[in-house]
Amino acid sequence: MNIMYDNLLRTVKILYIIIYARLSKEEKDKQSTEEQSQSIKHQFEICREYIEEEQKEYPDCSFIIVEELYDDGISGTTFDRADFNKLVKLIENKQANMVITKDLSRLGRDHIETDNYIEKWFPEHNVRYVSILESVDTYDTDNVSNDIAPLINWSNDQFAKTTSKKIRKEFKKMMHQGKWVGGEPPLGYIQNPKDKYHFIIEPIGAEIVKRIFKLALEEKTSEEISDILIADKVPIPTIIKGNKRDLNVELKDLWSSYTISDILRNKTYLGHMVQGKTTKLNYKSKKIIYLPEEDWIVVKNMHEPIIKESDFNSVQLLIKSNKNTTTNTHDYLLKGIIKCKECHHSIGIQHFNKRNNNYTICSYYRKYGSKKEVCTAHRFQYEELEKLVIKSIKKECMQFVDSTNFADKLKDKEQSKQLITDLKLNIDKSNRKISKIEKQIDTIYEDKLNGVIDDEQYKRMVINKQDDIIFEKSKLEQYQKDLESITAKKNVEPNYNKKVKDFLAMKKPNKKIIGKLIEKIELSEDGTIDIHYKVQNPYKNI
Ligand SMILES: [Zn+2]
Repeated sequence: MNIMYDNLLRTVKILYIIIYARLSKEEKDKQSTEEQSQSIKHQFEICREYIEEEQKEYPDCSFIIVEELYDDGISGTTFDRADFNKLVKLIENKQANMVITKDLSRLGRDHIETDNYIEKWFPEHNVRYVSILESVDTYDTDNVSNDIAPLINWSNDQFAKTTSKKIRKEFKKMMHQGKWVGGEPPLGYIQNPKDKYHFIIEPIGAEIVKRIFKLALEEKTSEEISDILIADKVPIPTIIKGNKRDLNVELKDLWSSYTISDILRNKTYLGHMVQGKTTKLNYKSKKIIYLPEEDWIVVKNMHEPIIKESDFNSVQLLIKSNKNTTTNTHDYLLKGIIKCKECHHSIGIQHFNKRNNNYTICSYYRKYGSKKEVCTAHRFQYEELEKLVIKSIKKECMQFVDSTNFADKLKDKEQSKQLITDLKLNIDKSNRKISKIEKQIDTIYEDKLNGVIDDEQYKRMVINKQDDIIFEKSKLEQYQKDLESITAKKNVEPNYNKKVKDFLAMKKPNKKIIGKLIEKIELSEDGTIDIHYKVQNPYKNI
């Protein structure tokens, strides 16, 4: 979108509007005359309602409907439509400066042409275009939908996904190069005005960071440090950065122990660039997921450090020992092995004296939930959960015992060796084939963008390729399943059998045996429990 056009539109106070509706050929073939006129009417109504709303929202503008145009039964793949031509004429004669359709497909189904109208022709003619369903509004540059309008024109979410992946890939690449792609740098640093991808020290913030580390080395806890900073009226990071975000009133101007412990753990202060701490479920989701530290992207020595490495390491040890002394005294059977399915952090257990009740809670939710939009509570009655888990483990163990007896009969070692080699070869082959097809699709997509092939050719080619991928993936899945069941059989720890039998013999299992059998238990927000065993029942797939 060019800037001239945006500025021009912002000053336009009177909008001469064309509402445009269309019936597709399919609709015309399938629907009765009555239904068709209903559909056109309906499209007009939605557009009129939209205009009324706009008028209310922008009382100092005038929204005037110049014409309501429609084409029926002419396929959207051709722009040679009677009323559409009228629309073009009206705009060329400067009798209209706004076009509204119910959705993008009303404008046309040939996506190159549609894009061309949205991206080029309308802007060149100073026309604001609105598509209600997809919230595309060329007037509004902040509107994210504009960026994906061409993609919606591909009528397929697939492309939004791919593009989002491409952007993310690009970001990831920069992160791995140690280039800062985030917003505000941490306290003590600012972006280098000569090179926004790197930091330079900001002296006031850096002094505060040094003081925080010094206090921590004096064995003060995060709570104590925040109290000291509050008492000394040390400004909080957002104020130092002149960033007056609307914080909750009670949080305003106050240091929290969370801010302090974030600072104390931040390796940025060693001169490293630390990024990729969060991710999103997918390109549409707004929910942020905090990743475990081993998944962060850290590139060492990218800027001047504020804290000496030896001091930093001492502080980490102190933080750890502090934690150990404050853990609660209850020891629950499943404590430490329940993980959050959504954010992968651990699930804690909270004890309420008043109600004499225990509840699970996602530790990340507990830490940030009320302040930021992270994860959900995962609150379930603990004893109930424990009962369910034990029951489920027992069931699994019984199956295990049953199947071991059966599997003892399948013992041809040589045979299984050969099978494993063959399966591995096949998996490799399948993987290579899939990535080859994916590359081909990318090339076709680029050909399409460059106009080398047209939309119909493109669709046909991609659909074929996608079928190939699905077929290959189903083959791959089967190979992997087979391989898993064979290798699992080989890896069974000899004592596992005994542990399983021990467990079955116990009335109330203890932590030790649970720890030997179970890798982790995943709890999701809808209450589903996934139990991951240290050794999967190796004979399940046989
Ligand atoms: Zn969680």
